[in-house]
Amino acid sequence: MSKLEVCDAHPELLRAARYLGMVATRPCPVCDKHELRLLAYVYADGLKHDSGRPWAVKEALVLASRTQGSACYVVEVCTGCSWNHLSEAYLARTAG
Ligand SMILES: [Zn+2]
Repeated sequence: MSKLEVCDAHPELLRAARYLGMVATRPCPVCDKHELRLLAYVYADGLKHDSGRPWAVKEALVLASRTQGSACYVVEVCTGCSWNHLSEAYLARTAG
C-alpha cells in the first residue's frame, strides 16, 4: 500500500488522538516519528450518545467493564502522518 492509502485518519480521529491519546511506546511504523497515540472507542446500546465516542484508553476499559454487552476498540493513530490502525478489540463479559 502507498503511504497515501494508509494515512487516512479522519480529522476528528486525529483531534481525539491529540487530546485523549496515550503516547505509544514505539514509533510510528510508517513515518518512524514518535507521534503515535493510543485511544479507544466503546460501543454499547446502553451508553446512548456516549456509544462510539473516543475515550482515553484507561477510561474506556473502565467504562467497558461496567457496561453490559459493550465492545471496546483500541486504535493507534499517528498525529505526524495520520496513519491509523485498529490495535485491539475487546468484548466485555458480564461478571456473575
Ligand atoms: Zn506516522
